[in-house]
Amino acid sequence: MDWEPLVAAARAARERAYAPYSHFAVGAALLMEDGSIHAAANVENCIPALSICAERNAMSAAASAGLRRPRAVAVVTDASPPARPCGLCRQTLVEFAKDLPILVVNVHGDREETTLAEIFPQPFSLPG
Ligand code: ZN
Repeated sequence: MDWEPLVAAARAARERAYAPYSHFAVGAALLMEDGSIHAAANVENCIPALSICAERNAMSAAASAGLRRPRAVAVVTDASPPARPCGLCRQTLVEFAKDLPILVVNVHGDREETTLAEIFPQPFSLPG
């Protein structure tokens, strides 16, 4: 897995984060089934519940483009250790991929590779 194009896209997206409240800028980039990369930043709101994470923005962009099968996701923050996707994003991603390679990176160069199944082993699903 060549992570570098995804990391570069996530870093570039992070530069466009709108995070005036938390000052926690995040960029995420998804590799989709057709080889395309969909990247996004977090976008906050003065009503905290309306803030949207980078990962969910990226997944919504890809799904809105008709792409429903992510193959990998990279997330860039300035957190040490690198921040993993939040619970909301894990549930959003698992809607489209039961498992997914995840690379979390920080601006200091620290990296951790994991999978969605590892960090979200028991997602919600509708009964039946
Ligand atoms: Zn999130």
